[in-house]
Amino acid sequence: MASLNSHAKDLSRFWQGKILWDIPMAQFSTLKVGGPAEAVISVENIEDLTRLHHWLKENDIDWWIVGRGSNILVPDKGLTGVIIVLAGEFRSIEKLSIKPLSSGEEKVLIRAGGGCSLSKLVSYCTAQSLTGLEFGVGIPGSIGGAIVMNAGAWGCDIGSLVDSAILMDSDGNIATKQGKNLGFLYRKWSMGKNTILLSATLAFRPGNKENIKDTCRKYQELRHNNQPVAEASAGSFFKNPPDDSAGRLIDEAGFKGFSIGGAKVSETHANFIINTGTASAANILDLMHVIQQEILKRFGIKLEPEVHILGGGLNQS
Ligand SMILES: Cc1cc2nc3c(=O)[nH]c(=O)nc-3n(C[C@H](O)[C@H](O)[C@H](O)COP(=O)(O)OP(=O)(O)OC[C@H]3O[C@@H](n4cnc5c(N)ncnc54)[C@H](O)[C@@H]3O)c2cc1C
Repeated sequence: MASLNSHAKDLSRFWQGKILWDIPMAQFSTLKVGGPAEAVISVENIEDLTRLHHWLKENDIDWWIVGRGSNILVPDKGLTGVIIVLAGEFRSIEKLSIKPLSSGEEKVLIRAGGGCSLSKLVSYCTAQSLTGLEFGVGIPGSIGGAIVMNAGAWGCDIGSLVDSAILMDSDGNIATKQGKNLGFLYRKWSMGKNTILLSATLAFRPGNKENIKDTCRKYQELRHNNQPVAEASAGSFFKNPPDDSAGRLIDEAGFKGFSIGGAKVSETHANFIINTGTASAANILDLMHVIQQEILKRFGIKLEPEVHILGGGLNQS
């Protein structure tokens, strides 16, 4: 795989839509760090995505899918190749069907595009009195990013709601997969590198609108009380080790408030690394390494980042 370099002119001839050249990835990441991407392209529908995918493959160019950028860390040197953002039809929500369950209850199947924001789907479900996604309130991701990350909170995760998903594999082939075959684990799915989630069908149950609203309100309040929601971050930086909490370990090691350059361990929640305004990606990576080394030394536990560190020419999703 290669950078765009000599192919930039070919790309502008090939792609009829808008191309953003040399745009700082800090604009596409909630951590607000990251150097320039060679090109950023918003794709509106499956046909255009298929064409672009084919062109990138044919020319052996690196590419990356970025959703809402709420779980990525982009290096200061930026990213080679093309950043693909799913827009247009990929942001739609559609009610498919209502199916009776053997328990006498019903499940309601809703399809959401990979580029649709999770908060839009939470609002949709609330308006339709559908329960199941309340935990997603305050998670600032897209459906694609949420499914790749198996995003979750308060003991629930999105993987358990996925009935099926339409995926594009690394060769550009499109297929529907059952949710149970996506290999959901703690904060990840198990699909191959460079698999793109085009859309997902999620199963919800009919609920009481006021109860749904109350639950969302409660979860928002918990976030506002326990997380630095107004600061630039990527949410929890490290995965929780089995039967433990990364935040507890980092707090116990005395890191709250510790900073390197503009990157700081939040005083509110020790598993949040925040950009105080002047952080570079290098500051954040240095802080990450210092924390990892200390936690390993003190507790014998290797903390793994939950945040996807993009770079090195590979799409790590
Ligand atoms: C304040 C805050 C609070 C948060 N709270 C939570 C929480 O409670 N629980 C939780 O789980 N997470 C939380 N997060 C992390 C983050 O919001 C979630 O992981 C979210 O689901 C990521 O979605 P995204 O669209 O931003 O993904 P991105 O950050 O854009 O991408 C993440 C990865 O997914 C890949 N990707 C994105 N879209 C697609 C697609 N369509 N197909 C294939 N790959 C794709 C990217 O290439 C990348 O590897 C929080 C983040 C913040 C900033």
